[in-house]
Parts: sequence; C-alpha cells; structure tokens
Amino acid sequence: MKESRRVIIVGANQGALALAEMLGRSDFDVTVFEKKRQEDVSYDWHDIMSPSAFGAAGLPMPPSDCYTKKKCWAFVPPGKNDYIYVGVPDDNLDISVERRPLNAFLYGRAKDFADFHYGTEVASLIIEGLAVKGIELASGERVSADLVVDASGARSALRGSLPQEFGIQQTLPDSDTFFVYRAFFDVNESAEAPQYTNKLYMKHMGEQGVAWFIFDKEKNNTDVLIGRVGRLSEQTLKAALDDMRADNPKMGKTLLKGGQIDIIPVRQPISKMVAAGYALLGNSAFMTIPMMGSGMACSLLAARFLADTLTSPQGDAFGIENLYRYQVRYMKEIGARHAGTVLMKNWMLSAPSDVIDFFMRKRIIGEKELGAGNSGQGVTLSKRDVFIKVVKGFSRLPELLRLKTTTDRIKERTSFAAGIPEVYDKAEFEKWRSEYDS
Ligand SMILES: Cc1cc2nc3c(=O)[nH]c(=O)nc-3n(C[C@H](O)[C@H](O)[C@H](O)COP(=O)(O)OP(=O)(O)OC[C@H]3O[C@@H](n4cnc5c(N)ncnc54)[C@H](O)[C@@H]3O)c2cc1C
Repeated sequence: MKESRRVIIVGANQGALALAEMLGRSDFDVTVFEKKRQEDVSYDWHDIMSPSAFGAAGLPMPPSDCYTKKKCWAFVPPGKNDYIYVGVPDDNLDISVERRPLNAFLYGRAKDFADFHYGTEVASLIIEGLAVKGIELASGERVSADLVVDASGARSALRGSLPQEFGIQQTLPDSDTFFVYRAFFDVNESAEAPQYTNKLYMKHMGEQGVAWFIFDKEKNNTDVLIGRVGRLSEQTLKAALDDMRADNPKMGKTLLKGGQIDIIPVRQPISKMVAAGYALLGNSAFMTIPMMGSGMACSLLAARFLADTLTSPQGDAFGIENLYRYQVRYMKEIGARHAGTVLMKNWMLSAPSDVIDFFMRKRIIGEKELGAGNSGQGVTLSKRDVFIKVVKGFSRLPELLRLKTTTDRIKERTSFAAGIPEVYDKAEFEKWRSEYDS
C-alpha cells in the first residue's frame, strides 16, 4: 500500500532527481523538498563526469545538446615545467555536462512520479528513539515518512542534528573540505592559442590544492578553477588568479559566470550512511572522488543502489538491516576505491613541491598514476614499476619509499573498506567502522 511506502527526499540535485524517478516508478509515494527555486538549483555551468554512469544507473544519456566530450588534461607540476599530457582514447573520454539542462532532463523524467516542492526548506528531522519518522518544514508543518533521504549536501544540517547515538558523523571538518572557486572569463583575443587547452595544476603554487585552466574555443570562454583544501582566503584566491592569468594569457578579465566559492568533500565516504528510516545520498555522504571532488556520477550510481535496496528489500524495507545493504554495495563498488585514493591525495598535498616536480619530470608519477588518481581508481605499483621507478629516482630514495609505502597502504585501505561486514550486525559493524574512521 502506498501509505506505508512514503519517502521524502531532501534536496533536488541530480542524485535526488534520479532517485525520485526510480522510486516513484516502483510505486513508492515520493515527495521532494528543495529549499531553492527550481531554476536556481545546481550551477549555471558545465562539469565533468563519466558518461558510463548513466547506463550503470539505468538511465538514458541526456539529450546530446546538454554535453560535449571533454578534452584530455595536461597535468602541470608545481614548478610548471615538464607538463604530462594524459591522452585518453576517444571512446573513454569523460563528458562535460551542462548542469541545469541535466537537472531539467532528470526532473522531466521524475515529475510524473513524485511530488516536488521547490522553495521549501526542511528545518529538522522527526526522530523517535533511533529512527527517523519524517521531517519538519521551516514553515512548521510536520510530514511523516517511512524514509527520509538526505541529499541536502556536504554540510547537511539534518545530518548535523542527528543525536550522537545514531553514530553518524555530524560535521565535515575543513581539513576534508575542498574550497573551490569556479569562474568563466572572456577570451583575450590578442593572446596566442596555448599549446594545451586543458591544464590541471597539481599542488598549485606549492599550496594545498589544485587549479585548472581551460581555453574553450567552441564556447569562446576561459574556465578557471582554484581549489584549496582546508581554506581559501581572499588573498590566496587573488594571488592564484593572478598566477593563472600570468600563465595563461588567453584568460580574459571580464567575468561571464560563476565567481563564487563553494565547498566539496574530499575524503572517504562517510562511515555510516543509514539509520532506521534515514539514508544519506551524494555529498551529504561524502560521495565524491577525493582527488578532485567529482560527485555527479557517484550520486547517480548511489541513487540506483538505494532504489534497488528499497525495491527488493530483505525484511523491513526501511529498517537499518535492509538500508545497510545500500551502504555495503556503495562501499564495495565505489567507496572502497575512494577510501584508497584519499591516501594518494594526502601524499600529494604533503609532499614538498620539488619532490612532485622531480617525480613528474622523471615520470615516477606519470600518465598511469595521474589518470588513475583523477578518475578515482586506486593507484598501484607493481614490482616492475617499483624497480623502474627506483632506477629513475635513486637520488630521491627516501621520498620514493614514502610513495611506495603510500601505494601499498592504498591497496590495504581499499581492501579493508571493501571488507565491510555484508550483513548488519552492530558489534561487527562498529569494529569495522572504528578502524575505517581511524
Ligand atoms: C565548484 C565545483 C565544481 C565541481 N565540479 C564537479 C565536476 O566537474 N564533476 C562532478 O562530478 N562534480 C563536481 N562537483 C561536485 C558536485 O557538484 C556534487 O558532488 C554533486 O552535484 C552532488 O551534490 P549533492 O546533490 O549531493 O549536493 P548539493 O549539490 O549540495 O545539493 C544539495 C541540494 O539540497 C538543497 N538543500 C540543502 N539543505 C536543504 C534543506 N534544509 N531543505 C531543502 N533543501 C535543501 C540545496 O539547495 C541543494 O540544491 C563540483 C562542485 C563544486 C562546488
């Protein structure tokens, strides 16, 4: 009966929209609350994702005028010499998707299967014991539900308000947060076309973060991202923009769109994603690739996993035992790799710039490692790889050993995270969790 399958989704970005359609089609009674106006949800620009996520989530590709194929990156070391161009075969290229048309496409598919309330803020959760029973709107109206899906973003106030006994991490520390400035500028027509149109700056200016510059000939603009882990002060941003402009004379001075600082989690997925009547989805569960913060593909796939868990339940669909199966699947298929990749990100951020320059120059960190880290795949070194790298990097042996230790730990960490207990048993799970969180 519909009344006993009532699902509330908080937030209406891409993962939430996909889930609304999936559950609505399966005869769940779905209501979506989004605090922004419909036209303001998501960014008014395009972002990068793997197109395979649509098929894997059981969705068709969005209309072809929503996206273009992304060009390959040239990775720029901190010293800005010896760029590494990572070529990708045409069939494997990511796409750059216009966010709002993507949301319009997903909303169009979902709208007949769910009730949407835009401009409606959810103020809090209704909690009874260790279960979530619904939400209270900012207007004071209370709405009960069998399940509340919290897709309200990295700093979810709902997750933050859960009592400690739920065992769900409430806050996202700044040290796990990527503070990101994104802006599109015009093109300086008098400057020469650059050798590489898409440049990704590793440890930009020797600081804790990355930056990118893209000269988009087709759209006639320049696309700039400045990201720092932990903090991005106005002073740092100004210096970084000056540096980008000096290094990329094509970058114009007129701001076309963007220009604000937002946040993305860059860490392993949250260690507990569910409680009775409650599930986290997307950034609220830290479902991003930790190297760069890409999260669109992760949230679409997570929507599929959660929908499958609810439509083919074991026992009470909304009980923790069943919802936990969603977390297990996410961890095994996606999250475990990201838990490993975090270590590579930490290594990159903590290694001195001259070490990264040297490793990139000697291709100790080469096409394979950069491509794998960026796409969220685990970085591994075989015995042969290590031998070749030792020969190339003998003069930096201590740093090389640190890198080798890191790649070994990535393997261990990935396999530990994937070894999450298959069935919910509180004691077993807590044992796994305390090590995962440590
Ligand atoms: C600058 C920047 C660049 C990025 N680039 C990429 C990229 O290239 N590729 C990629 O895959 N990802 C990228 N990401 C990350 C990506 O945006 C997210 O991972 C993805 O969109 C999933 O976000 P989400 O829906 O979980 O959360 P959000 O995007 O934060 O959406 C949460 C929604 O919930 C709503 N909400 C919040 N609180 C409430 C409430 N109390 N009541 C009702 N509604 C509420 C918000 O208004 C919002 O619409 C980027 C992010 C940023 C900031």
